[in-house]
Amino acid sequence: MSEWHELVTGLVSDQAGEWDRTGLLPREVVAELAGKGLLCPQVPTDYGGLAFTAAAAGEFTAHVGSLCGSLRSLMTSQGMAAWTVQRFGNEEQRAAYLSRLTSGETAGVAFSEPAAGSDLAAMTTRIETDGDTVVVDGHKVWVTGAAYADLLVVFGRYAGGAAAVLVPANAPGVRVERVPDPLGCRAAGHADVWLESVRLPADSLLGAGLPLSFVVTSVLSHGRLSVAWGCVGILRACLAATARHASTREQFGRRLADHQLVARHLAELLVAEQAATRVCEHASRCWDANTPELVSAAILAKHLAAGNAASSAAAAVQVLGSAGARDGGVVARAYRDAKLMEIIEGSSEICQLALAEQALANWS
Ligand code: FAD
Repeated sequence: MSEWHELVTGLVSDQAGEWDRTGLLPREVVAELAGKGLLCPQVPTDYGGLAFTAAAAGEFTAHVGSLCGSLRSLMTSQGMAAWTVQRFGNEEQRAAYLSRLTSGETAGVAFSEPAAGSDLAAMTTRIETDGDTVVVDGHKVWVTGAAYADLLVVFGRYAGGAAAVLVPANAPGVRVERVPDPLGCRAAGHADVWLESVRLPADSLLGAGLPLSFVVTSVLSHGRLSVAWGCVGILRACLAATARHASTREQFGRRLADHQLVARHLAELLVAEQAATRVCEHASRCWDANTPELVSAAILAKHLAAGNAASSAAAAVQVLGSAGARDGGVVARAYRDAKLMEIIEGSSEICQLALAEQALANWS
């Protein structure tokens, strides 16, 4: 285990269930990880980052995901925010903003709106230049980490195309309201955000005028890979809890693991974890090599890993029986968190539509 894995294991310790119940991550834990650049570990060293490869970042994300889905959610948002700056910012913007994201500040990423969920082309948030400032008006929903964030990366319509703006969460005209009682990842600070005539310096603007689909796909690919690895973490946590329980609890005079129907759950959990790991490793290699396949590989990894995590977490609760039915317990949290992974960063259905297009392109 690397020093970073050990650090986060120590910081989370046995507290994830409590954080989930209270809906709050301790500020000092978030600050420690953000301050060491661990919420966005792929950022290059020139900007204070740790320059992890996608595969190393993925394994670290899986580790965090196995400990605490809410903390992993913050990593996904911070990683997407940093990637937006790295991909669409100029050199001054990279130097200014990436160093903030690797030295303690946190960020949320805002695409979704009340009428623009799966269909992000329906986005109505307006970004306009006015002299040497940009003005933002819009309403974003379900922004992960926004309740903790210093910066919000807000996507909107700009000059016939799209753009992102870097909005300080405390800028005049910004209102952040927590989503009450989310089903899962309850401490991830999901919030709705209102932006009313928010006026910012011109250098807050990124990717000005590029096609919306191009900008969204690039940023979501980063997020999909992160969510996919987070699901690997959920699978590993479920596998460990299930194997431990099935090998120690006895019913009908034998270990649960010695009943074949329970053993089948264990086998399927292992297959689910291994398959998810392999597709994530492949997508990470595509990311590092910047191959054209990376977009579809990230979709495939996210779709498979999220589906496997959701079905495997349900099986894990089944194997633990009443021992898995307590709120805050590992498999109960995994069950609720994994379901949400089938909705975010492109729902399972939206992923399937993209994969079907790929199937037709390659196989018809
Ligand atoms: P809808 O788009 O209304 O979809 C509802 C259902 O219809 C889904 O099952 C969907 O798959 C299906 N559906 C929709 N269109 C089609 C179609 N064409 N074909 C087949 N089925 C279809 N957003 C952000 O911007 N930033 C964040 O950080 C963020 N974090 C989130 C964290 C969590 C835990 C959750 C739950 C959401 C988060 N979101 C975030 C919002 C998320 O991106 C959206 O919930 C997601 O895109 C789905 O949109 P929707 O909820 O409006 O569902």
